[in-house]
Amino acid sequence: MAAQGSPVTLVTGGADGIGWAIARRFAAGGHRVAIADLRADAADARARELGEGHLGLGCDVAAEPQVVAAVGRVLESCGRLDVLVNNAGIADTFLPTVEQTAELFMRQLDIHLKGSFVASREAAKAMLPAGQGAIVNLASIAALTGLPRRNGYAAAKAGIIALTRTLAAEWGRRGIRVNAIAPGYVRTDLVAALERDGKIDTDAIGRRAPLGRLGRPEEIAEVAWFLASPAASYVSGITVPVDGGWMAFGSDGD
Ligand code: NAD
Repeated sequence: MAAQGSPVTLVTGGADGIGWAIARRFAAGGHRVAIADLRADAADARARELGEGHLGLGCDVAAEPQVVAAVGRVLESCGRLDVLVNNAGIADTFLPTVEQTAELFMRQLDIHLKGSFVASREAAKAMLPAGQGAIVNLASIAALTGLPRRNGYAAAKAGIIALTRTLAAEWGRRGIRVNAIAPGYVRTDLVAALERDGKIDTDAIGRRAPLGRLGRPEEIAEVAWFLASPAASYVSGITVPVDGGWMAFGSDGD
């Protein structure tokens, strides 16, 4: 059970995958966790799984009024907001670029980039007067290296890295730290769906990664926990690849 007066963390897209691992990690660390997810029922069920005092909310991060309302609900229910994790995301439009529509490209920007911007802005309205807060954004190695067919996704994630730096620079003196994680391939429904559609081959990915496998959601959650914690009190504006060494490996052989 989360105690009244505990730090409060809002995780977008927290009903599954990496977001759910982050929600569990912060709850285990004594935070009250609010899970905001497109699937309201799933968010609610996950919050109940975490125990009393946690919150599940329906919210499409691409819809500005819903994000404003979700942050408002957290503040109303919990009275504070200490950590925001901008995690909600999709990966369903990895089309060859010549087949990609502008609408699908913009959908990636709306969910990942606009969603992170609006949630951060709303969270900061509570964090700035409190003089403290931490924001952790989910970027991707797709923003750090060229991966075919990821056009909108990669552009949105690169935007998130720039947004991370901008907000860190703007809010640092007011006690807010802003950082990002760039995961490599992590075993979640998102990756399973890409594999089902023949868009990626996880065996080949595991072979290429220096650590020889895909990541686990819990391995991303640990880094999110560190970045949001006092242990990272002098860390702001950075993007940490958590990728099994993917970005360090420049060759296709031994
Ligand atoms: P996932 O599909 O397993 O879970 C995503 C969650 O976000 C789901 O609960 C879903 O309902 C929710 N969601 C989707 N669209 C939403 C919206 N518009 N509003 C609110 N919630 C929404 O995905 P995941 O693999 O856990 O990915 C989480 C984040 O990590 C994403 O931002 C993704 O881009 C990033 N990421 C994942 C990987 C990977 O390999 N899995 C790699 C790099 C980056």
